[in-house]
Amino acid sequence: MQEAMIKRAKELLADGTVNRVIGWKKGEFFYDATPAVFRTAEELDRQFIFDDFTQANVSKYLVKESRKDGKILAFLKPCDTYSFNQLVKEHRIIRENVYVVGVPGGPKLDIEKIKAKGITGVLSVKNENYTLKIETLYGTEEMPFYEAISGKCESCKSKKHVAYDELIGEDGEVLESNRFDMVEKLENMTAEERFNFWQNELSKCIRCNACRNVCPACTCENCVFDNPKSGVDNKAPADSFEEKMFHIIRAFHVAGRCTDCGECSRVCPQNIPLHLLNRKFIKDINSLYGEYQAGADTTTKAPLNDYNTDDCEPSIVHERGVE
Ligand code: SF4
Ligand code: SF4
Ligand code: SF4
Repeated sequence: MQEAMIKRAKELLADGTVNRVIGWKKGEFFYDATPAVFRTAEELDRQFIFDDFTQANVSKYLVKESRKDGKILAFLKPCDTYSFNQLVKEHRIIRENVYVVGVPGGPKLDIEKIKAKGITGVLSVKNENYTLKIETLYGTEEMPFYEAISGKCESCKSKKHVAYDELIGEDGEVLESNRFDMVEKLENMTAEERFNFWQNELSKCIRCNACRNVCPACTCENCVFDNPKSGVDNKAPADSFEEKMFHIIRAFHVAGRCTDCGECSRVCPQNIPLHLLNRKFIKDINSLYGEYQAGADTTTKAPLNDYNTDDCEPSIVHERGVE
C-alpha cells in the first residue's frame, strides 16, 4: 500500500493537481509515525510511510493547510474522513483546496500494548499472518496481532470513507460497533461509583493539552483554556474541581461535533479514557434526538444546532440525572 500511495502522490504532484502532500513520516522511533507535509518526489521516497503505526488523523492540519496557496493531497483513512467532513461542514477546511485520496484503515497497532508485555528495546514489528514478530535489542519476541490493536481501532465504527476524490484499495462498510458497551457499564454504576471512576481517571491529568490540541473538533483560534484571564490557562489542575472542569467543559464544547475519532485517548500520556466521556454525550444525543453520526456528511444539521418542536424537554435531562 505504501508504494501505491507514493506512486500516486508523485503522479498528482507531477501533473500539477496538487503542490504538496500530507501523510506520515517516521518520528523519533519507527512506531512514532508523525504527520508531515511532502513537497517533492524525493521527499516522498525518503520519508513517506504508511504502516501498522500510522494512526494519526491528519484532518485537523487541513484547517491551516487548505488556506495556503495551491491544492494539497491528503491521504485519509475511513475514520479520518468523518473528521474531514465535519470540518468542511463547519467551514474550517476549504474543500476545494484539498484532494482527498481515501486509503484503507486499520487495525493499527499500539506500541504501549507491546511494551506492556514486558517487551523492551523494540527495533521492528512485522505482522506475519496475524502474529507479530518483534525484533528487539535482546532477541526476537512474538505476540498475537489482536493483543496489540490500538484502542481506537478496537471499537472501529466504520470502514467506509465518507469523503474522497479517489480511493486506493477497496471501500468498506459502516460497522456494527461495540463502542457503547463500556459507556453502558458506567451508566449501570451507582452515581458514587461513577464519580469515583472519573475522579480517579481525571486526577491523573497533567493538563498537557495534548487531547485538545489533537482533537479535530477543537479548532478555535482562541481557546477558552488559553485565556490568561481565566485563571486556568495552561496550568496543571490545582484541586479536584479544576481536574474535572477542563474535561467537562471540553466535552460540552465538542458535543454533537465529536466524530468519535479516538485521537484524544490515543495521545493522552496518562492513558485517561477520554473517549468514554465523549461517547456518553454521543449516546445521549442518539437516544434523545435520534441516531446521529457527526461527520457522516457535510449537509445535515447537528441535533444540538437544530431546534424543532419534537425535541425532548429540558426536564428530561434533570429526570435522567436523578434516576
Ligand atoms: S492529554 Fe491527558 S494528561 Fe494531557 S490534558 Fe488531556 S487528559 Fe490531561
Ligand atoms: S473529542 Fe476525542 S474522539 Fe471526539 S473528535 Fe475530539 S479527539 Fe476525536
Ligand atoms: S476546548 Fe472549547 S474553546 Fe477550546 S478549542 Fe476546544 S471547543 Fe474550542
